[in-house]
Amino acid sequence: MQKKFDQELEDRLVRYASIDSQSDENSPTTPSTEIQLNMLNLLKQELTEIGAQDVELTGDSVVVATIPGTVPGPTVGFLAHVDTAPQFNATGVKPRVIKGYNGGDISFPDDPELVLSPEEHPYLAEKIGHDLITASGTTLLGADDKAGVSILMTMTRHLLENKDIPHGPIRIAFTPDEEIGRGVTEQLPKDLGADFAYTLDGQEVGEIEYESFSADRAVIRIEGVSIHPGLAKGKMVNAAHLAAKIVQTLPQATMTPEVTDGREGFIHITDMNGGSSEMEIKLILRDFEMEALEAQGDLVRQVCATVQATEPRAVITCEIYHQYRNMRYWLEKDMTPVDLARDACRELGIEPLSVPIRGGTDGSRLTEFGTPCPNLFTGMQCIHGPLEWVSVQDMALATELCLSVVQKAAGTDGNSAG
Ligand SMILES: [Zn+2]
Repeated sequence: MQKKFDQELEDRLVRYASIDSQSDENSPTTPSTEIQLNMLNLLKQELTEIGAQDVELTGDSVVVATIPGTVPGPTVGFLAHVDTAPQFNATGVKPRVIKGYNGGDISFPDDPELVLSPEEHPYLAEKIGHDLITASGTTLLGADDKAGVSILMTMTRHLLENKDIPHGPIRIAFTPDEEIGRGVTEQLPKDLGADFAYTLDGQEVGEIEYESFSADRAVIRIEGVSIHPGLAKGKMVNAAHLAAKIVQTLPQATMTPEVTDGREGFIHITDMNGGSSEMEIKLILRDFEMEALEAQGDLVRQVCATVQATEPRAVITCEIYHQYRNMRYWLEKDMTPVDLARDACRELGIEPLSVPIRGGTDGSRLTEFGTPCPNLFTGMQCIHGPLEWVSVQDMALATELCLSVVQKAAGTDGNSAG
């Protein structure tokens, strides 16, 4: 077990997790919350203090920095996001370190009802002897993604202090608003300037992910005919009834999130709002393959057209919007970034796991915009809720993985990067 990074990773995670930097999907600003700037400015200052070059807060509120290469090689980027999830209380996080976990149930000082048990969380049972970090029971921890931030800051500090380690140029980016899908703009590949990159935003040790969903969203609007209900006979067209018909006609038993897993896609109604005169239905469409995603869009349009045909006096429209694409479409053409990480992982004695992500990452959009970007493990577990925890030793393995990847990328660590 690696020891040399443990204390630094623990200290960094405890310090960063105590800073509230939750994002807010209802805010139109960038970053979505002012408080994210507390993390971004702190990281900018710390990067400068440890000697990183070109440290900058970009116009998109991303902190970028350079670790100059010690040998020639491709420029490798690394990303982590500073925001924490909006789904659970993130104010007043009190991180707590459990040294040398004994394998038993973990209780929480601020919520006596809450228990994190190795029976329910088998991955926890593998961590006996590890130093674990949790929150206190009433908040999330924010290891998603401050574990990633801590790993990258530790790697950066280590490389800047040990210039005998052979690696090419490295670019670091700390992004805001990943949790609300707004962390990566089309400008970011230019600001990052990397040949390929990695997000440090995965979970269990070994995860090297290069497949995400392809994603569209759809908005259906229904305009009925409004009139006083007492005078409505033969005249009123109730938009709510038409919305119900659409919902009823969409596949429920075969194609919703609650009945699918693995490589299956889904159509998910996220919102339904309105009344008898007007209704709006919002949906998200997800599949790993483009043909299937397009078929989902066609299906939603067909259902709308069918219901429209039953009531010509109503106006039903359906718009479909692009969200993100499966990063595999680009990575399968050049698996170098994935292969480097897999080789590095095996050298650490860990068998790599590449499970398709039933969602998207900052890397999905970055890859689509031109910078191939798989996702690496950090150790974070039970994210977005009060049971969230991470093992310090898992974070240390992720740090070792990144250090090995940058040496392999420069062709200086055994196998050439090719
Ligand atoms: Zn994350």
